[in-house]
Amino acid sequence: MWVYLNGQILKEDEARISPLDRGFTFGDGVYEVIPCYNNRLFLFEEHLKRLKASLELTFIPLTDEIKNLDKILLELQKKNKFLNQSFYIQVTRGVDEVRAHAVEKKMQPTVLVTSQELQKNPYRIDPNQEGIKVRLEEDIRWHRCDIKTIALLGNTLPINNPNKPKVDEIIFHKDGIINEGSKSNVFIFHKGKVLTPSLDQNILPGITRGYLIKEMRNNGIDVHEIEISMEKFLAAEEVWMTSSTKEVQPVSKIDEYTLPSKNLEDSIWYKVLKLI
Ligand code: PMP
Repeated sequence: MWVYLNGQILKEDEARISPLDRGFTFGDGVYEVIPCYNNRLFLFEEHLKRLKASLELTFIPLTDEIKNLDKILLELQKKNKFLNQSFYIQVTRGVDEVRAHAVEKKMQPTVLVTSQELQKNPYRIDPNQEGIKVRLEEDIRWHRCDIKTIALLGNTLPINNPNKPKVDEIIFHKDGIINEGSKSNVFIFHKGKVLTPSLDQNILPGITRGYLIKEMRNNGIDVHEIEISMEKFLAAEEVWMTSSTKEVQPVSKIDEYTLPSKNLEDSIWYKVLKLI
């Protein structure tokens, strides 16, 4: 695989990052994931805007590379040659001479871009197959989940708990209210309405979420950005998750509870998938 690192396109095994990079020592950085279908970037401007917001909120300067990100992505895309790929862009505060919380001098951010083949959403290939399995967990993350930070221990810890059954995704809740998945946003269909947690809650403003809300409204589907209580969540007719790499994927099981089965043609999640 070819990667971009601080101004150069390199073979993956030639890329070198200092052990004193603050991304490594503190998780002090932000990232973005941008899908590319049939050699075309999908929702690039929206992703760029969110990356710039993450940088601004963490006081990491905007480098020229980020201003020219589309050119870097197109160059990598040609080199890596996958028809469908997802670009991973990571920007850290840079390399410190000594490990210390406070930054003493002007830092040069580290910019890394990698890409990998994007597998086709299995629910596009066979929408009738069983949905994903999820587990509910108390949201133990920090209070700025709107920032797309690389410090993701709160997100990755629950799915790697060896004492719990294996699931495809974790759904976080706090004080009896549903927030989002560990790597995706959540939607439900309940009493004739599509509901999704509002951005006032501690969640990531997912690009797929935002795109689909707009598309659903344009297509006459009633969507409400509103608190979803645990009670409502477990009474939902349908639950689905969204993200840039997974698109739309239906949920069939929440812990031990199996959602009622529904005819595909009547399923809202399937109509929503077709909006991408
Ligand atoms: N929430 C979290 C916590 C995520 O990690 C992701 C995926 N990056 C999402 C939501 C979905 O966001 P997007 O649609 O921008 O991929």
